[in-house]
Amino acid sequence: MNLHEFQAKHLLAERGVSIPRGYVARSGAEARAAIGRLGGDAWVIKAQVHAGGRGKAGGVKVLNNEDEAADFADSLLGQRLVTKQTDAAGQPIEAVMIEEGLAIERELYLSMLIDRARQRVVCIASAAGGMDIEEVAATAPEQIITIEVHPSAGLQPYQGRQVGFALGLDKRQVGELTAMLQSFYQLFIERDLSLIEINPLVVDSAGSLICLDAKITVDDNAIEVGKQQQLAAMRDLSQEDATEVRAAEHQLNYITLDGNIGCMVNGAGLAMATMDIIQVYGGAPANFLDVGGGTSAAKVTEAFKIILSSPRVEGILVNIFGGIVRCDMIAEGIIAAVREVEINVPVVVRLEGTNVEEGKQLLADSGLDLIPAADLAYAAERVVAAVEQRRP
Ligand code: GDP
Ligand code: MN
Repeated sequence: MNLHEFQAKHLLAERGVSIPRGYVARSGAEARAAIGRLGGDAWVIKAQVHAGGRGKAGGVKVLNNEDEAADFADSLLGQRLVTKQTDAAGQPIEAVMIEEGLAIERELYLSMLIDRARQRVVCIASAAGGMDIEEVAATAPEQIITIEVHPSAGLQPYQGRQVGFALGLDKRQVGELTAMLQSFYQLFIERDLSLIEINPLVVDSAGSLICLDAKITVDDNAIEVGKQQQLAAMRDLSQEDATEVRAAEHQLNYITLDGNIGCMVNGAGLAMATMDIIQVYGGAPANFLDVGGGTSAAKVTEAFKIILSSPRVEGILVNIFGGIVRCDMIAEGIIAAVREVEINVPVVVRLEGTNVEEGKQLLADSGLDLIPAADLAYAAERVVAAVEQRRP
């Protein structure tokens, strides 16, 4: 689960980490009031959306005139922001941050995340911070420093100094950075985070380190088991994929992807294998979907409707291995769904396992236009071919 920048900064400030002075506004009037309260002669207006790349997309602006700043904040609210990290529809802007405009001496990059390969929390830093860190990573990886935290020792002060000297900070700044990293690490562990990313971490005109931007991601598992109630309350469903939200309400593990072939599978491993084999035959999956082991006909019906709700889907591959789940029950779900929803894409069904004969019989007797497939490779080949055939 992602947090908004203003929420992330709030968590950082609670730990004594330096952030710019600022307020959240949800209307033009609130924005104007915030500008007045901040005073000064430069204000930064920042769209609050769950996506990076806002600066280049016109979602972050520094203004030196109160009226212009208030008008710009007002103009963002209610719009959608499209950045290189969003889809073509963009993310809705329901809040903006109004911050004091700082004079920036240097822009650095600093993050903390879980490195799965090393099985450690790592801290990544670079003197080449700002908006193009992905490009730095690709073209000048030597400008990126990584340190790993030993899980029982925790983050050590010497590691803070190591990062600080590599960033070319002076003695006082190294002290600030070391304290900042300790705060990050405590927050990271206590709040079950999977990412803290500060880009840029700036050195201001007084030589102090300030987190100008902040992104925090919380481990979904901690939210699901009810471990992080305060963070769970920060969830903003308006920023999430509507189909994924709907699927989660029905306890379906669903992730929207870019392809054209909808997948309905039971078991995460089988779902991954199904997505792979679709690609082997030249197709692209439109989603990941694991309907789960102990599923019901009603859940299968809902899953079908969810898959079909995407205009991108040109064909569906159902791949069920009945171990705990019975194939006849899956067949009932498919039949109910196809009767309920108007379906005009080819549907290939591969059923195997418990009560497979009953399941196949139900599908055959239904009179529905479903394409049966006995094995996975054939099913994938068939759905890709069926989609191709329909192309004008
Ligand atoms: P992102 O593009 O979504 O990552 O948004 P950021 O919060 O990182 O803002 C983008 C850029 O706006 C930063 O890299 C800064 O260059 C600039 N910016 C943000 N706040 C200020 C500020 O207070 N003063 C100045 N001069 N520039 C700022
Ligand atoms: Mn940024």
